[in-house]
Amino acid sequence: GDEVVLVGRSNVGKSTLMRELTGHSFDTGGKPGVTRQPNHYDWAGPDFMFTDLPGFGFMSGVEEGKREQIKTDVVRYVEANADDILAGVLVVDGKAVIDIIDRHRGNGDIPHDVEMFHFLQDVGIDPIVAVNKMDKVDDRDERLDELCDRLGLFPPWQQYQETICPITAKTGSIEPLESALAQRFRDAKRDEL
Ligand code: GDP
Repeated sequence: GDEVVLVGRSNVGKSTLMRELTGHSFDTGGKPGVTRQPNHYDWAGPDFMFTDLPGFGFMSGVEEGKREQIKTDVVRYVEANADDILAGVLVVDGKAVIDIIDRHRGNGDIPHDVEMFHFLQDVGIDPIVAVNKMDKVDDRDERLDELCDRLGLFPPWQQYQETICPITAKTGSIEPLESALAQRFRDAKRDEL
């Protein structure tokens, strides 16, 4: 497969990241829950398709029923296309993600980011976590270790450089993510042989 799906809460910087990855401009600021057309992108030779899957219940101001519907749509899409999906990129806001996860946990809810991470694993897609907005994070290693902990990975985060990718999409500092995607692509090609 050669499809890369991006998922994440609104405002984490998904459209900024898509723009950096593809060189195209995407207006994902439209109505929450409106699934975008798949976007084709030539990268490192092969024809990659990036699919921005919005929502997954992340939108504030969207009623519960609608949120559940969006989540169901996302899950269905990923399940139906799992064979073609080379990578699932969960985009999070490095500055806010720990607080958000812990707040949900405190309320007895399963945090959506954690849920999505495990969901991708469950359907056989090894998730890549693009930890965005690292320009706003001072205690970088500590923050990334905390994120590992919340996702059920044992720190230190440096063990997971193909999974945990600290980036700053706004300034185009996305090398860790590009390198993880390139590695996935090589692995997939090798498996095809
Ligand atoms: P989306 O809703 O996930 O598509 O998020 P956007 O791409 O629209 O970005 C939301 C906001 O975060 C915008 O104001 C962006 O300029 C800002 N943003 C995106 N990436 C970064 C980043 O790496 N660092 C900082 N500080 N802000 C960012």
